[in-house]
Amino acid sequence: MMPLIRLDDLTVAYNRHPAVHHVSGAFAPGSLTAIAGPNGAGKSTLLKAIMGELRPAEGRVEHRLGRAEFGYLPQAAEIDRRFPISVIDTVMLGVWKARGAFGRVGAAEVRRAGEALAAVGLDGFASRHVGSLSAGQFQRVLFARLLLQDAGVILLDEPFTAIDARTTRDLVDIVARWHGEGRTVIAVLHDFELVRAHFPQSLLLARELVGWGPTVDVMSSANLMKARAMAERWDEDAAACEPQEAPSA
Ligand code: ADP
Ligand code: MG
Repeated sequence: MMPLIRLDDLTVAYNRHPAVHHVSGAFAPGSLTAIAGPNGAGKSTLLKAIMGELRPAEGRVEHRLGRAEFGYLPQAAEIDRRFPISVIDTVMLGVWKARGAFGRVGAAEVRRAGEALAAVGLDGFASRHVGSLSAGQFQRVLFARLLLQDAGVILLDEPFTAIDARTTRDLVDIVARWHGEGRTVIAVLHDFELVRAHFPQSLLLARELVGWGPTVDVMSSANLMKARAMAERWDEDAAACEPQEAPSA
């Protein structure tokens, strides 16, 4: 099968420091892949490079998808919830983004937004301020937004971190439904039990690729140990580069 997204010797760097280093491989259309790896492994960076938000320092990301064909859920830390906006408007942002700033949002879309809220268990929450929601409720809102956006490729960055068990179950069900509908889903996950139970493919990253393929093969204890050892090595390198003491002014 022709891959949907191909990574060809992909390196992504911040200020010339590579966060993702020489990664090659492919995502098949309709695949459901977990991205796992230690903190600082480059997982979020890889998602951003896949959808074109970050440019490669070396190598390439190859696909024929427009930006609107990617649905993206950022890591919670990157979302500001203090913005004074209602639940329904947050969901509708999915449509505005896909249409561009000048697209019209009609009654049909308002109805679809309401349906998306019902589908994530938030009937009656439309006019609530997002700042008043629990972490789990807010994550449900963001999933409603993805439902409304209806993208073919869905990228999720730690969607179940700091979320209660009930919400996790409900949102995992939505991911499974997306997979059943033939969408391509790529999700950064910390919980290896969830990965093994629900994600057929895994990509294990420690800046470099440790493994990419069927989860049963990739998420072996040998590979997880290898990823951890690689992370310890870059922590030591960073420590060695710390300045001894700040010069006094
Ligand atoms: P992960 O999501 O696996 O925890 P990230 O992709 O967020 O890892 O980060 C990988 C590395 O790149 C880390 O060392 C991090 O500090 C660094 N990094 C991430 N974002 C930036 C940024 N905007 N500017 C500079 N360095 C960054
Ligand atoms: Mg991250």
